Amino acid sequence: MRDFVYDQLPTRVVFGAGAFDRLADEADRLRLSRLLILSTPGQAKLGGEAMRRLDSRALSLHAEAKMHVPVETARAARAKAHELGADGAVAIGGGSTIGLGKAIALETGLPIIAIPTTYAGSEMTPIYGLTEGGLKKTGRDPKVLPRTVIYDPLLTLGLPPKIGGPSGMNAIAHCVEALYAENANPVTSLMAEEGSRALAHSLPLIAADPTDREARGDALYGAWLAGIALGAVGMALHHKLCHTLGGSFNLPHAETHTIVLPHATAYNADAAPDAMSRIARALGAPDAARGLYDLAAKIGAPLALKDIGLKEQDLDRAAQIATQSPYFNPRPVTRDGIRRLLEDAYQGRRPA
Ligand code: NAD
Repeated sequence: MRDFVYDQLPTRVVFGAGAFDRLADEADRLRLSRLLILSTPGQAKLGGEAMRRLDSRALSLHAEAKMHVPVETARAARAKAHELGADGAVAIGGGSTIGLGKAIALETGLPIIAIPTTYAGSEMTPIYGLTEGGLKKTGRDPKVLPRTVIYDPLLTLGLPPKIGGPSGMNAIAHCVEALYAENANPVTSLMAEEGSRALAHSLPLIAADPTDREARGDALYGAWLAGIALGAVGMALHHKLCHTLGGSFNLPHAETHTIVLPHATAYNADAAPDAMSRIARALGAPDAARGLYDLAAKIGAPLALKDIGLKEQDLDRAAQIATQSPYFNPRPVTRDGIRRLLEDAYQGRRPA
């Protein structure tokens, strides 16, 4: 057994079909009675549902969350919370909305109740992201970690497979990198393997029938475990590449993760054999990288960077940006190696 350090983060989790109805009780438990509700414009109706459940504890709905949390959006939400005298916020939606909640918590220390409706996992991490002048900066601060997370699979029934499939693959990416993280530990690895298993099992069922409640529950459970893994240990090459592609080339977050994951996994295969066998076991596949590719194909997710907006002439610059500052990865990161990886991901080749 290797020595390890494990940080247990203090979030309360309320999980189950119908758990959304416990929102007011959870607010009372935190002694919050002046809540600002956050959502995207597209999920304003759901934000209204949260208002209704909170009754007099809800001050106002702020349906202005945007992808990658632009600083102006964060400032406006903070000003609104201040103006209304909010004592907390409820973030209901995907990673973008929860990111807006975190941006409020970062500056004000206000407690956040998160109600995730995708599989991104942000609700379980102390990581925040803010975008200014086209540059996304991320940081860690325990203040931004939601106090309570309500996972209700019924809220994901309307998540279209086109968004939900890649979002689930994004969650599996957290698990894969947790298994070979520099500070991997036995507890996080258990969660990462179980999270991958739950997602790999449920995503094809959801693709076939988006109203499958049992599968929706399994996927959200997997996403919870993946979020814990993401928050507990450091990520490596895969997340670095996706951050570069998203930030510098404006590619969509979850789709980019879906496409790059099999190739980043193949790149690290020989350097992380234990992680590979655990991933393969979770997928029920003979090989981790090919298993991930086949899973993405099976759920109808995109497989090639050329299909989501990357240009062939961007590959050199992407490889250069992704290799210019050093970071941990099980296999040394070389510019040529990353250029080849990106070429395979660009073309959408099945890992050899
Ligand atoms: P998102 O929050 O941008 O949501 C995508 C779209 O789907 C939005 O329009 C949203 O309104 C809609 N949507 C969400 N749930 C829905 C549902 N159940 N039914 C119908 N529509 C729904 O996407 P995401 O993938 O959840 O989050 C991505 C963002 O989260 C990125 O900015 C990423 O960097 C960030 N993120 C942060 C962390 C962290 O730890 N800080 C972790 C993961 C992701």
